[in-house]
Amino acid sequence: MNVAIMGAGLSGLACAITLEKHGITPTIFENRNQVGDRFINGEALIPILDRPINDSYSFLAEKYGIFLQPLSNIKNLTFYSENKVATLSGYLGFLNSRGRHSQSIENQLFKQVKTNIIFNSNVTYEQILQDFTHVILATGDAAYASKIQNFKVDLTVTLKGATVEGKFDRFSTAIWLDNNLSPKGYGYLMPFSEREASITIGYPDYPENQSKDINAIWGNFYDRVCANLNQNLKVTDNFEITRYIIGQCQYPRLGNTFFVGNCFGAIMPAFGFGQLPAMLTGIYAAFDLVGKGNYAELVKHLQESYNNSLVIRRFMEQLDNRKLDLLVSLFNTKLANYIFNNQKINPFKTASYLLKPEVKIRAALNKNSRMVRKRIIPPPSNPYS
Ligand SMILES: Cc1cc2nc3c(=O)[nH]c(=O)nc-3n(C[C@H](O)[C@H](O)[C@H](O)COP(=O)(O)OP(=O)(O)OC[C@H]3O[C@@H](n4cnc5c(N)ncnc54)[C@H](O)[C@@H]3O)c2cc1C
Repeated sequence: MNVAIMGAGLSGLACAITLEKHGITPTIFENRNQVGDRFINGEALIPILDRPINDSYSFLAEKYGIFLQPLSNIKNLTFYSENKVATLSGYLGFLNSRGRHSQSIENQLFKQVKTNIIFNSNVTYEQILQDFTHVILATGDAAYASKIQNFKVDLTVTLKGATVEGKFDRFSTAIWLDNNLSPKGYGYLMPFSEREASITIGYPDYPENQSKDINAIWGNFYDRVCANLNQNLKVTDNFEITRYIIGQCQYPRLGNTFFVGNCFGAIMPAFGFGQLPAMLTGIYAAFDLVGKGNYAELVKHLQESYNNSLVIRRFMEQLDNRKLDLLVSLFNTKLANYIFNNQKINPFKTASYLLKPEVKIRAALNKNSRMVRKRIIPPPSNPYS
């Protein structure tokens, strides 16, 4: 067996580590000149989105022998809507970093890989197919999956973010749910130290959003974050990602090619979280190759989570600011705190089950506008370029 991994990000590296543990040395191609050579970003793993997995770090360590450390745990999660504020407290998840940061998740994975990585690679998938018995597509985007018509796009989003300097509690994070700031999207703050944080705004590229000026949206968001934090934040770096694809491949494995990470459809549509699914798909593809499982079967729970998350997104998109105020008020209750902290409850699964019929009816009513939306979906692009 001669395995190639295209892309040394979360899914590709998790796959490589797992293959090596089972005696297979893959060839890893990465088109950047080092692992994680992109903007630094504060990201998070939130258990309520991954249940029944409650602690991704111990889960990856104990079940798969992959050892990662977060930057900190999240003790407070504050929600801001137009007129309301709510803070949940307790065991709410972990903050981590991505990209060039020395402790980024990809750098931590890289240290556990023994195989040399071929950097600055410009070999194509078609070339790799000629030389290897199996290919793991882990490029972090849907380009190849779309090219071979194996990807269903549900939406694309525009993201603009920055690294800011200020004074932060590194155990506290915040989310803004306000259509005036981010139409049908959200903004967030994720500290990666007491001095630095990422602030990011994201919204879907629906026709009604396409004429919007991303710089004006960003400016409003930045002002709002400064106002809510009562600080003048200094921007030290920034990034913009357009047409970030959220969707799923139709077949997780086609012939001897495995689609993993974002090539599979790891990003959960409701809030854009995809780290854990990305690493799991890498591990599952390796399991299939070493005879420990069937990839298409192993990823089924991720496909189910994706579909549940899509229902939540579609529902959230229907909420105007008055309803978002109401939602945020609900987060201020003891019940919300209990749900977020109770590891046995999977509220997103339950909510998506209950909301599915309503979302379906609305979708049928909006069928015409959805068809228009489908036509304008742009070609896939590398999200981090
Ligand atoms: C702004 C932003 C914020 C996010 N926040 C969160 C969060 O808070 N929590 C969360 O869980 N998820 C978050 N996500 C999603 C998560 O980061 C992704 O789902 C995850 O990184 C996907 O892993 P991957 O392995 O598919 O891709 P990546 O980790 O991006 O790795 C892809 C690798 O492939 C390489 N590559 C690309 N093309 C080629 C090629 N042709 N040949 C060789 N190599 C190639 C790239 O250089 C890269 O190293 C966020 C995403 C973005 C964009």
